[in-house]
Amino acid sequence: MSATSANPIGVAVCGIYGRVGTTVAHAVAREDDLALVGGVDVIASAGGFTTADGSTVATDTDLPTLLARAKTDVIVDFTRADAARVNVRAALEHGVHAVVGTTGMEFSEIEELGELAAANGLGLVVAPNFALTAVLMMHVSKLIGKHMDYCDIVEYHHERKIDAPSGTALQSAIDIREARGSDFISVPTEKETLVGTRGGEHGGINVHAVRLPGMVAHQQIVFGGLGQTLTIRQDSTSTESFVPGVLMAVRAAPELRGLTHGLDALLGLE
Ligand code: NAP
Repeated sequence: MSATSANPIGVAVCGIYGRVGTTVAHAVAREDDLALVGGVDVIASAGGFTTADGSTVATDTDLPTLLARAKTDVIVDFTRADAARVNVRAALEHGVHAVVGTTGMEFSEIEELGELAAANGLGLVVAPNFALTAVLMMHVSKLIGKHMDYCDIVEYHHERKIDAPSGTALQSAIDIREARGSDFISVPTEKETLVGTRGGEHGGINVHAVRLPGMVAHQQIVFGGLGQTLTIRQDSTSTESFVPGVLMAVRAAPELRGLTHGLDALLGLE
């Protein structure tokens, strides 16, 4: 599909009244080759969703209703895992491509949805982090981890985030461990006087989640070797940080088939 202002990609945003969904919906509405066709949220506003230029699009409380009334090419989902799995399936069954930022789904179910996308000749892009700086952090961390023996991840998010660790932190741990080919050294704590202080653990990588007001999405990966550490830190200081990656995925999705996990392939990092 070659989108133009005369033939834009129709985009529906699930979670349109949420933190990220609102930002994405406004961003879609600003682009000439994209058209915001509607939104879904738990409570649909009677007045619809109003964009910066004053125009409004209708919102619904379920995706099938929206898909039945508005020509949609791609859905973008920033909701919660239990909603995302229903929304993505509905989109794929309606012949609509999907871009998913929602975290908390098991990888096995993402793969299953990818198979449905492939069977229906559709693209499904699922990324634990759409901020390009986060994608680059995860990419270089895989290289660094091969040369270091210790690794801890500390992620920081707003206090209302419902899942932990963040999708980015978990995916980072999985990818860094896989690239290294063996577990990192994680010396067991003999006496933990406060249970959970050492965080979660994957492949010898301890993962810690901080939840505080004022945070958006931040992560530090700290590598340790003999007498030295290397820290990589990434900060998303506003939900705008996710916009370039989401728009890239929306434009790519109609050309893709099956699951694309992460933005690496779209950025030529693989
Ligand atoms: P949020 O502000 O809570 O927004 C989620 C929105 O989805 C809310 O308006 C929520 O309504 C709505 N919702 C819940 N169930 C729904 C359903 N069944 N159908 C439609 N809408 C529904 O959260 P957020 O900060 O925007 O984050 C949303 C998700 O994106 C989270 O999983 C977060 O971890 C993830 N995220 C991913 C990235 C990335 O780059 N991949 C970046 C940031 C966030 P209620 O408030 O009424 O429940």
